[in-house]
Amino acid sequence: MNAPTKSPEPIHGKGVVKQHLIDPEICIRCYTCEMTCPVGAIEHDDNNVVVDVTKCDFCMDCIPVCPTGSIDEWRVVKEPYSLDEQYSWSELPEQQSLEQDASPDEGGDDPIAALLAEAHKGTGGKPKAPASAARPTVNLYNLGKPATARVAGNFRLTDDPGHDVRHIILDFGAQPMPVLEGQSVGIIPPGTDSEGKPHLPRLYSVSSPRDGERRGYNNLSLTVKREEKGLCSNHVCDLKIGDEVQVTGPFGATFLMPDDPDARLLLICTGTGSAPFRAFTMRKQRGGAAPGEIVMFFGARTPDSLPYFGPLKKVPERVLKKHLVFSRIPGAEKEYVQDRMMVEQDMIADMLNDAKTHIYICGLRGMEQGVEEAFRSIAESIGLAWDATRDAMREEGRYHVETY
Ligand code: NAP
Repeated sequence: MNAPTKSPEPIHGKGVVKQHLIDPEICIRCYTCEMTCPVGAIEHDDNNVVVDVTKCDFCMDCIPVCPTGSIDEWRVVKEPYSLDEQYSWSELPEQQSLEQDASPDEGGDDPIAALLAEAHKGTGGKPKAPASAARPTVNLYNLGKPATARVAGNFRLTDDPGHDVRHIILDFGAQPMPVLEGQSVGIIPPGTDSEGKPHLPRLYSVSSPRDGERRGYNNLSLTVKREEKGLCSNHVCDLKIGDEVQVTGPFGATFLMPDDPDARLLLICTGTGSAPFRAFTMRKQRGGAAPGEIVMFFGARTPDSLPYFGPLKKVPERVLKKHLVFSRIPGAEKEYVQDRMMVEQDMIADMLNDAKTHIYICGLRGMEQGVEEAFRSIAESIGLAWDATRDAMREEGRYHVETY
């Protein structure tokens, strides 16, 4: 049975409606929103993920599951954007100015502004790229027209037998694949699902810098953990040199590095969430326009399950200040990234007070809350209100979260 259709939400009966949209520039095509929507209002074609205004009932279930915040977009419109219009976009249209006739007693001075201000409530603001970041290329290869990459390497990164994390190198030959540090690509697993449809791509952060895993080569690397029943992670972790892989992307337009030598980066990650930070670090090591100071808090179960543990330890402190913390070392107390942040609170307080600081959080969704609590406590200890500080940083393109 089809779900009942519904009219978009009218505003004060004045001939305008509030419409839920997705920002195609920021969306990384992970399709989590589509899988979460209880009323089937979110769908995709080869190019974009879109919201059907006749089905969306504003339940907000899709908002917290989106890793990038691209889902948290709203426009007040006289005529809702059709699915075809949304499918054709590469950028989200600006809010159009509307003739208003709602009187103050019907909803304040400006009901449309009030309504738009409600957006991003759940995420604390719209994510923005750092002002000095290079402009990324987005959605160059889509579901209908993926790039074909050839596997140039597949190396195991962890000694823990129960924790297989791989470094996969993909070569794109003559096909352009311009990626910036912090962007992701999709891998389409071969075969079809139970309904006979091709599988959707799975998203992986690129772990190499913009000039290639091997400098000057048209290749990139991914950091992929084998999940016990993971369809795509097993496919990727089992790839052999020379195998062909179908790739979509690049995706992501905000989780990017500032090209500002005075910037200071505070990177916080768990497990394979370290992938983009390897790219950031290599960018700096190779002498690209990169921030002056990079501090990293990196949580893993044990040294044997921390991806790139060996090479990471050799990175000099002048390039990367490292805080590696472990939660499952026999005989030792469990330590999470947020615990170490509290130990290093004076240094973090100094960074929070500096308008050149950029914060990046990547990895397990569960870490977000603990990390925010640590920031709140540190901010309050120096008289800063955390919510306002974080929202201002996000507005200035200095606060970035990508968690799954
Ligand atoms: P993992 O090994 O399961 O966990 C890494 C560390 O995080 C462990 O020490 C774990 O401790 C700890 N941890 C667990 N809950 C925590 C919490 N609430 N706060 C702080 N630390 C916590 O990690 P993984 O298997 O590599 O998973 C990494 C995650 O990152 C995956 O969910 C993946 O999808 C995501 N990821 C995201 C991106 C991205 O956003 N771009 C990229 C790559 C990966 P315990 O001993 O308690 O388990």
